[in-house]
Amino acid sequence: MPTSPLRVAVVGTGVIGAMTAWHLAARGAEVLALDAYAPGHDRGASAGESRIFRTAYKEGASYVPLLRRSYELWRRLESEADRELLTLCGGLTLGPPDHPDLRAVRGSAAEHGLDVEVLDAKDAARRFPQHRLDADEIAVLDPGAGVLRPEPAVQSALARAQELGAQLLPYHRVDGLDERPGGGWHVRTQQGTYDVDHVVLSPGPWSGSFARLAGLPLQGRRITAAWFAAKDVAAHRPDRLPIAIRRHHEAGFSCFPVLDGTAVKIVPHHLPWHDTDAPEDLPRSADTGFARAASAAVARLLPGLVPHPVRIGVYAEAFSADDHALVGPLPGARDATLLAGFSGHGFKLAPVFGEIAASLVTDGKSPYDISFLDPARFTG
Ligand SMILES: Cc1cc2nc3c(=O)[nH]c(=O)nc-3n(C[C@H](O)[C@H](O)[C@H](O)COP(=O)(O)OP(=O)(O)OC[C@H]3O[C@@H](n4cnc5c(N)ncnc54)[C@H](O)[C@@H]3O)c2cc1C
Repeated sequence: MPTSPLRVAVVGTGVIGAMTAWHLAARGAEVLALDAYAPGHDRGASAGESRIFRTAYKEGASYVPLLRRSYELWRRLESEADRELLTLCGGLTLGPPDHPDLRAVRGSAAEHGLDVEVLDAKDAARRFPQHRLDADEIAVLDPGAGVLRPEPAVQSALARAQELGAQLLPYHRVDGLDERPGGGWHVRTQQGTYDVDHVVLSPGPWSGSFARLAGLPLQGRRITAAWFAAKDVAAHRPDRLPIAIRRHHEAGFSCFPVLDGTAVKIVPHHLPWHDTDAPEDLPRSADTGFARAASAAVARLLPGLVPHPVRIGVYAEAFSADDHALVGPLPGARDATLLAGFSGHGFKLAPVFGEIAASLVTDGKSPYDISFLDPARFTG
């Protein structure tokens, strides 16, 4: 006798929920993909033109198998959606050789046999004059790194999910989640209540607004990006400028090549990332203190840019207490999967986390080792 498909609500369709909806729909689940806003919006974590993809991973070697799988899935999504989402322009990590991030990148590459190149300051200056290095600094070049396009990625994954049968419900803010006595959930919105067998929670920096997530160490924070016009645009396009993570005693930032035809984006890491519990109230720009400090870093370390921002964007992300995501069964609940707290490095991994979430929902287990991300590590 045919069994009816599992009915699953994905709550929050930033990149994580979008990828989950895609994988669940591909497995034949009946998917309701709900979001308070519309696919590709700029209020949360999954917007702002560009994201870094890297495989030599400073956040820990346990991520490397996940990154490899994620790479395959990015390529699969590109082929299904017929759209370029990931450009492999290479990735630089620049700074003092004993900086923990430079050591971690080299350690991760050595452990997994990844092919990285280490350049001294002279070689780096010759090959990448866009960056100014101090004499005692080095650059590590990861040829497997690149730049992702966040808004088209979210929209492509949701479009594929929809083609595979998912129902997209934009502008459906979830106001409440009630467990049904016999299993499954009632998902409450202003537009109506939906009965489902399973809930996937992927609310990004809005995690604090869900009563079911109270007690988990998840905090929303603002992250601000600034774009600076390139003096020589051709020298700053992805074919000549890899993505970069810059570590310097005066400043730290991630740096993205020109994608819009005029400007390089930087995301300063040395300026404060303020807490936010209400990403819908994000300021649309930054104060002059931020602009001045970002300009000073650019003037010092990126000589090919006009050191005054032409555009500023403020986004929000959920951070966990240990800067690793919470991926797995929601503690204390049945039929619920949590994906939250990606702590500033979840975008590149979103396709594999979507695959993992779909496996947790349909098979009750992950195909990859994600024990280090188990939400239960915070509940004992
Ligand atoms: C500026 C910035 C730069 C970054 N750089 C990188 C990088 O270079 N590389 C990298 O890998 N990662 C990077 N990250 C991290 C990465 O972008 C995030 O980890 C990832 O986008 C998280 O996606 P998400 O789906 O969890 O959150 P979001 O994209 O915020 O999605 C959450 C969704 O839930 C919805 N929602 C919330 N509450 C409700 C509700 N009650 N009802 C319905 N819907 C709801 C929201 O509307 C939203 O669409 C960066 C993050 C930021 C902010």
